[in-house]
Amino acid sequence: MDCLFCKIVSGDIPADVVFDGERTLAFRDIAPKAPVHILVVPKVHYPDAATVAAADPALVGELITTAGQVAADQGVSEGGYRMIFNTGADGGQTVFHAHLHLLAGTKLPW
Ligand code: 5GP
Ligand code: ZN
Repeated sequence: MDCLFCKIVSGDIPADVVFDGERTLAFRDIAPKAPVHILVVPKVHYPDAATVAAADPALVGELITTAGQVAADQGVSEGGYRMIFNTGADGGQTVFHAHLHLLAGTKLPW
């Protein structure tokens, strides 16, 4: 399957990986929209977060747990952060491999 994030998971496309777990991977967004902008993905391909939730609810928990751990590692737990799952074209999703955006490091505007 021609999927950008599957290729990052497999190592075929390089990424700045900040967490490599059993079932989740976290890496820096190539075009950061905040001082800390990290993507957390399941290693198995699902097109979006709702599909992950339907197929493997525990895996959604692991994505959020990973984000919390990465936030702590990045030193932004105290200041706070935002977690976003853009879903579908109207939701702003452009890469159709489920991913959680972790945004932090500034007072987010909305
Ligand atoms: P979406 O718009 O689907 O919610 O988020 C996709 C994100 O992937 C965007 O924030 C975009 O900057 C990021 N992105 C796109 N291509 C690459 C890439 O090759 N490497 C990394 N690390 N991030 C990417
Ligand atoms: Zn994929």
